[in-house]
This record gives sequence, structure tokens and C-alpha cells, in this order.
Amino acid sequence: MTITFPTATITGYPRIGPKREQKKALESYWAGHIDAEVFAQSVHTLRLSTYHRLRELGLDEDYSIPASYSHYDHVLDTALTVGLIDSETAGTDFDLDEYFALARGTAQRPPLEMTKWFDTNYHYLVPEIEDSTQFRAHPQHLLSLVSEARAAGHTIRPVLVGPVTLLALAKSAPGTTTSAFTRLDELTAVYRDVISILAAAGVDWVQLDEPALVTDCTEHTDEQLAEAASRAYTALAGASTHPQILVTAPYGSLRAGLPALANSGIDALGVDVSAATRTIDPGYVDRIAAEVPAPVHLVAGVIDGRNVWADDLRSSLAVLGDFCRESLSVSTSTSLLHVPHTVSDEPSLPVDVASWLSFAEEKVTEVAALASALEEGAESCAESFACADRAKRTRTESARVHSAEVAARTAAVSGDDGLRIDFETRAAAQSSLDVPRLPTTTIGSFPQTAEVRRARADHRGGRLEAGEYSAAMRVEIDRVVWLQEELGLDVIVHGEPERNDMVQYFAENLDGFATTDNGWVQSYGSRCTRPPILFGDVSRPEAFTVEWSTYAATRTQRPVKGMLTGPVTILAWSFVRDDVPLAQSADQIALALADEVADLEAAGIGIIQVDEPALRELLPLRDDDRPDYLEWSVRAFRLVNAKVDPSTQIHTHLCYSEFGQIIEAINALDADVTSIEAARSRMEVLADIADFDFTRGIGPGIYDIHSPRVPTVAELTELIEAALADVGADRLWINPDCGLKTRSYAEVRRALANLVAARDAVLGSEHVPA
Ligand code: GLN
Ligand code: ZN
Repeated sequence: MTITFPTATITGYPRIGPKREQKKALESYWAGHIDAEVFAQSVHTLRLSTYHRLRELGLDEDYSIPASYSHYDHVLDTALTVGLIDSETAGTDFDLDEYFALARGTAQRPPLEMTKWFDTNYHYLVPEIEDSTQFRAHPQHLLSLVSEARAAGHTIRPVLVGPVTLLALAKSAPGTTTSAFTRLDELTAVYRDVISILAAAGVDWVQLDEPALVTDCTEHTDEQLAEAASRAYTALAGASTHPQILVTAPYGSLRAGLPALANSGIDALGVDVSAATRTIDPGYVDRIAAEVPAPVHLVAGVIDGRNVWADDLRSSLAVLGDFCRESLSVSTSTSLLHVPHTVSDEPSLPVDVASWLSFAEEKVTEVAALASALEEGAESCAESFACADRAKRTRTESARVHSAEVAARTAAVSGDDGLRIDFETRAAAQSSLDVPRLPTTTIGSFPQTAEVRRARADHRGGRLEAGEYSAAMRVEIDRVVWLQEELGLDVIVHGEPERNDMVQYFAENLDGFATTDNGWVQSYGSRCTRPPILFGDVSRPEAFTVEWSTYAATRTQRPVKGMLTGPVTILAWSFVRDDVPLAQSADQIALALADEVADLEAAGIGIIQVDEPALRELLPLRDDDRPDYLEWSVRAFRLVNAKVDPSTQIHTHLCYSEFGQIIEAINALDADVTSIEAARSRMEVLADIADFDFTRGIGPGIYDIHSPRVPTVAELTELIEAALADVGADRLWINPDCGLKTRSYAEVRRALANLVAARDAVLGSEHVPA
């Protein structure tokens, strides 16, 4: 018997819970405050209340609700389910301690590597595949999710990462001889076992997610991925007993993968046809209409799963109409994992801004409204449509969103505005800066003590008035400056005690951004962030970093470095506008930051660092879209600094070591000094720098701040000497890998003392001509 696919569905749902219940359960369990049974009970309660709520919101058909829950990460779950990661797991579910050991490591073994999930801010665990890996079906976890839901009256749809994506994301363990991809057929056979066991347990629909098919990010070409998908799904769909198969392709548009999936024999295909994807690939809807044969049920992801704007229901309904087909359902473009739970829990948002937003719960309501409009006409949910129309109208007309002044200023930006005078001239002008050879500095933040956090929280909560708050920050700045002087660092920072987060702080101080109270989104495991919401034209009402940097400068004779977060990083870690191109918002933020730069410079700050740790993160998933991105992102960065005097030294900081991929863009940023992560990879970046002939100042980080380990003088000396082999002594800066805010003072003091000692040792040796 075939059960038709539900009319309304979603690809996945946030797992952390509306009150971050899962985060609390996880952290209590890890801390040993609750046992496995209490943990299991609390996440059981969370799952059931989620199903119940989703049903209330309109996902009330069988198989509408995906079983997208995970204790930590869905890639890890699938890897365990198919035996890509070997597991001792027996019984009815994952063994918790073994599971968390993989995710978080133990004293004996490091955790699995973690990396970004496509171009989102979610991080997944990277499974490692060895020659000896024996794929095996471990469906117990899925079976228990299904039966738990069934016992409470819900028929849910098991979800797995699909075999092509799983292999494309897995990495080969050191010493492996065959590429992971050559094992696709073997892996597919195990997927077939898993889903046939589900079928035997009475499951009619399963979902397999294949986001790798919409990207050019893996080492495989689009054609190779499509060919793999065709092979895998033809095999799965051809098996004698299997549930009906929905394959989803979230995060963008399919190319060769579209016909490959559509003709593989699968029962339903989920496509990302959100407005964002339609803008990037305007022909996608027509291609889908033409290429997906009628027997394949089309699950149209019109509701944007990864941004927070209320949907324009009328245009979505029109898109659904464009498919001209009977067998059609409404869904989200991606899992709702990337958005917060609900707008109704945001008392501090201005009411008009709140009315333009749609978080996970509201998006489910939108899906349900469209599904009902599809079946019974738009009159069946006239109120939802009227509400969407109103949101669209008030947002378009709002003076909060559109500023003529900002528009005029942005429009006046011309091609040459970002260009500083040539580097040689700048370097000569900057030689008056009082720094020795191989200057030492830090990336900006110092450890955030409990007192500092408390002062910030009290200030925010109105318990500490401005004057007292400022005094508390100054005490901390005194201490940080004094410590740096004592350690002998050359370029001093104020330590960033006033910032809870390098993007949130800027969003709070710029017009055009809103911040939320409860808008938590999972970053990885129990870690959540609250991304600001960029809703309007950006400007800077008043200076907000100058006070702190200039205060620090009164406490030392050495040069003080001002600290700003760059436009690309602000965009990358916020929810962005969907009504103007990203490039336009980038220019606006850049001009607002340029005002801050001008004020810092006028206040006598001669070195300014503009951090762009997210420059590579925002790189588009498709090769074709990258040149345009790199063009506008580099332009925005340069606009921030374009007007400074040649004698003002501009630094930037990037948080990763795979430098090669975007080294041209980094060079084009034209910063006087660039610091990058390098210690982890034992300075592998140096090869890229040497190959490219990077001519300006460079500071490959020599202290790995991600580890509690304090590096020895000998190790640090060796890293500096390694750097000197590729970077001239006149260009090399000595600094840690990243900000120190997550470390303790005890570690930082020793590590920085060793860093300065290592620099002194190298300076005193014959390696560096005076
Ligand atoms: N200036 C920031 C800090 O030191 C940079 C952080 C980052 O690169 N992520 O914390
Ligand atoms: Zn960093």
C-alpha cells in the first residue's frame, strides 16, 4: 500500500528546545549533575512536546513531522546508523558516553573534527573513514524515535543524511588508500538494510538529505555527484522492500543532480525554491517543472529555512502554481535548525520589526497556510494572507528600514573610493610607529572574567548605571594594559571587555540592526548563538569604540591598536536583509565603520585592526557565484579604511589556516598587517604566503589559543624561525592565533611571556639583521 506524502511538511526542526532545554540537559549530564536516565527523560519530554506543538501548528498529517532530533549532530547520527563510524552500540539506542566521547573527546582520545555545514553557521562532526571500516546497519536509534512517537500518537518520518553527502563530507583517515567515494555501492547496500528494517517496522516514508548535490564545495564535480546520486538512489528505489523515499536537496539549486534524482525511481523530491535560491538561479522553477516526471511527488521548499523574514505568501503560492502539477507538497527550503524558535518570545523587539519576522514556529504556520491554500484556495486562510500582505507593505514603507541619507551616501561610492595610496608610501609613513623588529601584539580580546561579565549583565539589566559601568570597564582595561606592558608586548590592545560578542556589540551600536532576547540558534552541540537581525539601512549614530581605545592609550606610552569587526563578518554572523543585495548592506556597514575609523584616527589611535574572520565562511557554495562575492566583500573592507592617513596602520585578522583558496582576495584587502591562524597546522600557511609572494606585514599565529596548553619558549622559537624562512624579518609580526577571550589569565600570562621570550631569543640570534 502506498501512503501519499503529506501536503504540509518541514525538512527539519530546531533541536535545542524553545527554552534551550536540550542545552541544559546536555550540560547537566556532562557535568555529572544528572544521570543518563534523567537526561533521556528530559530529551524524551522535549521531543514529544515538539511533536505536539508542530501538530498544533498544522503539521497534522501522518509523516508531516520529520524525526530530525539529535543529541549533538545529525551527521554523527547517520554515520553511526550506517556503521561509517564503528560503534559498540547495542540495545535500543546510542550509548551516551560513547556518543559524547566521539563528539567531545575524552582524556584518551581527541573528538572528531568539526567543520561548518555548507555555508551556514552550524558545525557538524566530520566522520573519518578507514580502509578497514565495515559499514553495518544500526537502525536502533531510528526505530526508537519512531516507536516513542508512535506511543504518543504521532507518525513521524525518519531522517538520514543521504549516502552521497555522507561520503562527500567524510574524510579519509591518514593512511587510507582508497578514496571514500569508491565505497558508495557498499554503503548504499547498508542504507538499503537500514530502510528496509524501517519498512518492516511499519514506516511508510523516510527522508534522505543530499545537500552536497547543490554545491561545488567538495572535491567532486557536479557530474560526479550526480552520477553517484543516480547510482545510489536507483539501487535504493529498486530494492524489494523499502519505505517510500523522499530525497531533499537543501541550500541551493540542483544542476546535474536534478535529472539524476528525478529519474532514479525515488518517490518524492524535496527542492529548495525559496526566494533566495530563486534569485540566485532564476531558471530553477522552470527546470524543475520540466524535468521532474509526474510520478515523482514534488516537495516544494518555498519557505526559507535559514533566514528570518515573514514569507510573501502570495508569491510563494504563485511559485507553487508554476509547477503545474497535482502531486505537490509545501515545505521549507532547508531544516529550520538555522532559525530561532519563535518571534512570540521576543518582548524587546519593536512591534513593527517583530511583525516582519518569522522564526521556526511561524514558518510552520506559513507552510500550513500555503498547503491549505493549495488544497482549498487562498480564501481558506485569508487571514494569513492578509497578515503577510500587511507585513510586506509596512516593511517596504517603513522609515526604520529606508534612510534617504544612507542610500545617497552608499550610491555616491565610486570604484576608486576604496583605494589607499600604495603600500611603499604607507610603509615609509608608518616607520615612525614606535615598534621594534618582529613586533609582538595580540588579536584583541583578553580573558573575560566573571566580574567583567557581571558588570555587563548588570549594566544591561539597569542595575549598574553608565558611570559605574564605565568605571568597571576602565579597571579591567588598566589591568590588561598593565599586563601587556609587564609582559613586554609592543602593540597594546584594550582587551575588549565591553564586548559580549564581536558582532553583537556592533549590531547593538549601529542603526539598522535589532538584537533578540531569546533568538538562540544552535552552532554545535550545546553551543548556541543569538545572531542579530539586520533589517534596515545601516548608519552609526555615535562613536562606540573610541572611548575604550583612547582610555587605554592614556595608560601607556606604547602604540594602542583600535579594534573593529569588519563588514563581511558582521553580515556573516547576522540574519541579513532579503530586500536589498548583500553587497549593498556591506557597503552601508563599511561606511558606518569608516566613521568609527575616522574618529579613532582623530583621537590619536595610529593602528586600527578590522577583523574579518568570516571572509571565507561567506564564500558562495557554487564556483560561479564566487568572483562577484569576492569583489564586493573586498571592496567593503577597503571602504572601511580608505580615508585614513598613510601613517595610520591598518591590520586585519582572519581565523583560519587554509589561506590558499582566497589568498588573492586577502591580498586585495590591502591591509598593512594581516594576522592569521597557523599554530595548529604547524605553519602550513607559510607555503601559500611564500608562493604568492605576499608583500605586506603578516602575523601567522604561533600560540594556538583553542587549546589550554601553554606553548614553551623552544616551541615558539621554532615556529618563529620557520616563519622567517618564508617571510622577511621586516614583514613578520609575532602574535597568537586568535583572541584570548576564551582562555584564563593564568594560561595567557604564561603563554604571552613565552611568546615575547621566543621573539627576544630570535632577535638576539643571527637570524635577524638589525
Ligand atoms: N578581535 C577579536 C578577538 O580578539 C577577534 C576574534 C575572532 O577572530 N573571532 O576576540
Ligand atoms: Zn580569530
